[in-house]
Amino acid sequence: MLSILDIFRIGIGPSSSHTVGPMRISQRFWRRLGQKKLLTKTDRIRMIFRGSLAFTGLGHGTLRAGQLGLLGFKPETINLNMAEAALSALSENLEFTRDGRTVQFDPKRDIILDFDQAAKLHPNEMELQAFDSKGALIYKRIYYSTGGGFTASHAQLSKPAKNDKVAVGGGAVPYVFGSAKDLLSVCTQQKISIADLIMKNEDARRPRAQTEVRLDRIMAVMLQGIERGLNTRGELPGGLHVRRRAPDIWAKLCGAPGANERETLFDWLNVYAMAVNEENAAGGQVVTAPTNGAAGIIPAIIRHYCCDETAKPDKKKTRIFLATAGGIGLLYKQRASISGAEMGCQGEVGVACSMAAGGLAAVWGASPEQVASAAEIGMEHNLGLTCDPVGGLVQIPCIERNAIGAVKAANAARLALHGSGAGKVSLDQVIETMRQTGLDMSSKYKETSQGGLAVNVIEC
Ligand code: SF4
Repeated sequence: MLSILDIFRIGIGPSSSHTVGPMRISQRFWRRLGQKKLLTKTDRIRMIFRGSLAFTGLGHGTLRAGQLGLLGFKPETINLNMAEAALSALSENLEFTRDGRTVQFDPKRDIILDFDQAAKLHPNEMELQAFDSKGALIYKRIYYSTGGGFTASHAQLSKPAKNDKVAVGGGAVPYVFGSAKDLLSVCTQQKISIADLIMKNEDARRPRAQTEVRLDRIMAVMLQGIERGLNTRGELPGGLHVRRRAPDIWAKLCGAPGANERETLFDWLNVYAMAVNEENAAGGQVVTAPTNGAAGIIPAIIRHYCCDETAKPDKKKTRIFLATAGGIGLLYKQRASISGAEMGCQGEVGVACSMAAGGLAAVWGASPEQVASAAEIGMEHNLGLTCDPVGGLVQIPCIERNAIGAVKAANAARLALHGSGAGKVSLDQVIETMRQTGLDMSSKYKETSQGGLAVNVIEC
């Protein structure tokens, strides 16, 4: 059952599929051991990463995230200082105590990057194993991090989907839709906007006030990420020696408040998006939108178009924006994928651009058809975008790519507003094209750092 609150998850950088997902998977495994009444017998745990998690796990912080989940940290509530202290204690003591149970875990011995076995059902595979005090394997389970912080067990991914409808909750939601075409037809029948439709579906899950509080919190975390990024200087971690650029661009913009070059719009969108993605690259708190790698595009649009000059958000606008963008994100999640390891960067930055374009068009008063058209244009010009992060870090090309994505999203929304929404290419067609392109794309370009910029840019 999908909710827009599953698309926008608060977590830590640098990657939703490689950081947030593995942390949640370790948590799931620990819970599972408890449910199976195996915790009292568990003496040692081992974690094995395969596929993209093995290839880019070091640069994406996957190994740390897996351990933090085991230690009981959650992406939504993590305190980064406490997390650092817990990781240091683990590497020193080679054991941890949780729920009254002391378990051995030597990161050097018990974390395995398995390059020999291919990942099976999804490129981001993680296996966890529990051993008793005699060293016998007592339980193991394979999970997948399917993008945007979503996780699935091997058993869950093996089951064919019952249907392709979005937001099916035992018939609990009022408006079931499986495509953009369905979505637009419900909007026409009910004479409501996409944002209204999505919020009415969310009402079936929790009171409206609770949804609004959570959307406002998501928006606040996005804006806080921008502020931290604008005000933090220095080099990003990971050894690439990438310098944070947002504070200097911000200082220049603030130093020339009356600047009216035609290109200034680009500067503002660039600086907000880069601020978020520099924070993400530094392991700071961000919101999946729909992933961490693409976390800067939606906040940049919100900050520029839904806030006043003091950065105070207009809650009405941001809720319309997030509900609309979230609804578009649900379509991509359900009908294709939002995982860079499956789709390349078109599934991350492309989807974020599409969501942001649709959300912005809605804020500007577009009809549902124009919103869908904006989302379509936002994706159409990201089709084929590869994922080839240099050094396996979420820095080059990711940070600038978010800046370009934010500008493209605003442009897509403008183009859509000049039309009636009846374009030659539909949102459903572009989503399906992205899916097919992702399937055809060589794995070299799907978050493995084995092709593209990752092999042509020398790390130094
Ligand atoms: S290139 Fe795109 S998909 Fe790949 S890590 Fe960077 S932002 Fe994510």
